[in-house]
Amino acid sequence: MAPIASTSRQTIERGWADDEPPSPPAPRASDSYEHKVARAKALRQNFPLLRPFVTICSTTTRELCPDGAKCPNVHFVRALRPHTEVTLGDCSYLNTCHRSECRYVHWVIEDPLDAPPLKAPLTVEPPRDKEEEPLPPQWINADLRALDISVLGKYDVVVADPPWAIHQELPYGTLTDDEMMRMPVGEMQDEGGLLFLWVTGRAMELGRECLKSWGYERIDELVWIKTNQLQGLIRTGRTGHWLNHSKEHCLVAVRKSSTDPSAPPRFPSWFNKGLDTQVLLAEVRQTSRKPDELYSMIERIVGGRARGRKVELFGRTHNLRSGWWTLGNQLGDRDQVFEADVVARIAERYPERNLPLLDPKTLAPVPSA
Ligand SMILES: [Zn+2]
Ligand SMILES: [Zn+2]
Repeated sequence: MAPIASTSRQTIERGWADDEPPSPPAPRASDSYEHKVARAKALRQNFPLLRPFVTICSTTTRELCPDGAKCPNVHFVRALRPHTEVTLGDCSYLNTCHRSECRYVHWVIEDPLDAPPLKAPLTVEPPRDKEEEPLPPQWINADLRALDISVLGKYDVVVADPPWAIHQELPYGTLTDDEMMRMPVGEMQDEGGLLFLWVTGRAMELGRECLKSWGYERIDELVWIKTNQLQGLIRTGRTGHWLNHSKEHCLVAVRKSSTDPSAPPRFPSWFNKGLDTQVLLAEVRQTSRKPDELYSMIERIVGGRARGRKVELFGRTHNLRSGWWTLGNQLGDRDQVFEADVVARIAERYPERNLPLLDPKTLAPVPSA
């Protein structure tokens, strides 16, 4: 087979660690299959399941399951209500149906405790010994077009689900293309910082323009495959004119050097790469709400929820998450910040906000010395 030509992708892959040898690259122990397996095992130990894991049977219902009552997995059962008409078949919205009087069939997962006894007892993995405690959620309610973002300091990871002005009736205000291009996202990150940018419709092109204008290089693209409650593909009745839409895209980009934008981006050597796939398979929830699986993916990249500074832009209250910052204009009238240097910079720049420094244990203001 002919040798693969050197591509920018390979250059990026070699740009991860600061101690990389110059080209031609020597094979490294960390590239070996054994090393990757060992790392995957270590990560699995560091991210234990908090609750026992019960598989949903792929046959969906116990009636269809060849093992019937003996099957140890959980199955879906019909949530029959007085007005349900079984002959109508499944509601196309299933568990996201908003119509309380909907006569179609809806489903719930049977309670694992009602299911037949398991062959082996469920065990809960013990928490790891020295678990690092992430800070509770931090947030600032502000219009991101007006906020002087330098008061917040630099972030290792930025996630953004912007209110792009796409041709669609949306239940929230949108930003013009110009306003998006002018957003100072690049100022929030040093070289090597990762950005995850949700794009949809014409924003798939506009988002790429924004990345250039903000000083980023796109290195990957995540696809969220949207499933319904029965773990099937969303097929009908939601969005799309020509084909029904069952996926969304998230661009993955890295902050380039501000002094030498032509140089290949350099990643912090402590980022874990090669752990997850570029496909997220997750259930749809409220309109525009993205899957939480992205947070877990990012937490694996930075080595844990307590590691690295992580921020979500244009977030809402359902996005608040321990170990993370959230910025947006729908976060209520109270800000929550535990980092003293940020509080000091905000006190200087925005004294009218009267932002208190809070104690992460009690959530009460720290008495000033
Ligand atoms: Zn089964
Ligand atoms: Zn329904």
